[in-house]
Amino acid sequence: MTAQPAAHDILFSVRGLSKHFTAKRTLPFSGPPKVVRAVDKLTFDIHRGETLGLVGESGCGKTTTSRLLIRLLNATSGEVDYDGAPLLPRQGSALFDFRHDVQIVFQDPFGSLNPRMTAEQVIAEPLITSTSMTAAQRKARVAELLGLVGLSAEHAKRYPHQFSGGQRQRIGIARALALHPKFLVCDEPVSALDLSIQAQIVNLLQDLQRDLGLTVLFVAHDLQVVRHVSDRVGVMYLGRMVELADSETIFNRSRHPYTRLLLASSPRLRKSKVPDLAREPVEQADIPSPLAPPPGCHFHTRCPLATARCQAEVPLWRSIGDGHHVMCHHAEQVGGPVAKSVG
Ligand code: SF4
Repeated sequence: MTAQPAAHDILFSVRGLSKHFTAKRTLPFSGPPKVVRAVDKLTFDIHRGETLGLVGESGCGKTTTSRLLIRLLNATSGEVDYDGAPLLPRQGSALFDFRHDVQIVFQDPFGSLNPRMTAEQVIAEPLITSTSMTAAQRKARVAELLGLVGLSAEHAKRYPHQFSGGQRQRIGIARALALHPKFLVCDEPVSALDLSIQAQIVNLLQDLQRDLGLTVLFVAHDLQVVRHVSDRVGVMYLGRMVELADSETIFNRSRHPYTRLLLASSPRLRKSKVPDLAREPVEQADIPSPLAPPPGCHFHTRCPLATARCQAEVPLWRSIGDGHHVMCHHAEQVGGPVAKSVG
């Protein structure tokens, strides 16, 4: 049995979190603007010291979710508690402290670094804007951070174009760690890197998470990478979280048809056997537009188990034991190992 975490072990508590965007009209007089429910009533916790993976197809809302948690976006509705206190009303010094605690590592290490700044200047920038360190103290901290991410002092005076992609991502990580954050969002941190470099950066992030006691939200579409780094995994589809469980359960005993389809369509996971469920032809149906998601369960147009109830009624987000949550009317009918190769 997976023990339920105590309240003090929960860093983020998310309840009914939603973010809606109004789509631009393509033609004048084309009716009222459409609303995209990019994130729709999410309820989940992030445990202190864990890596929570967030997966789903492009446009499912995982990046929007990560930005809502660190307040790069404001929510349309819902509640988020951070470290036991409501996050959304924080202003002034409370917001300043929160911004110290949370940092982000971006997907594109080149685009996220100022080409006119040396590595030392990039890493020192948050120290200048958010601390009263002297120049000597900053220099020492930058040297420490370079060492932490596997670079050396001689790299400090180089510009971004003088580094490889993997080294640039190391600089981005060093900058994110400068203010001793508690929570790190890693937004597709290796998807822009060569396959040979990806493992080095993933291993570095894992080492840092363990050594510094970080809590990490790891957003990615590469299921093999997510499986490698995550303690628990949340699966999103068209703005909703449809399944959440520990990593072993998601990858071996998933109870949501969409999760199983996602696993079965991953070339890096699918080596021999795939779940029978995912072989059903209905999976090939087009992915619905987020502008007009299907009513009821959004997945019913692609789901081989869909019933009339699925078309009419939104499934509840419910616990099925051992910290396993699922949004499906018929989760109990979905069983058995996902695939022998996913073990
Ligand atoms: Fe499929 Fe119905 Fe479950 Fe949705 S609720 S995933 S359509 S079985």
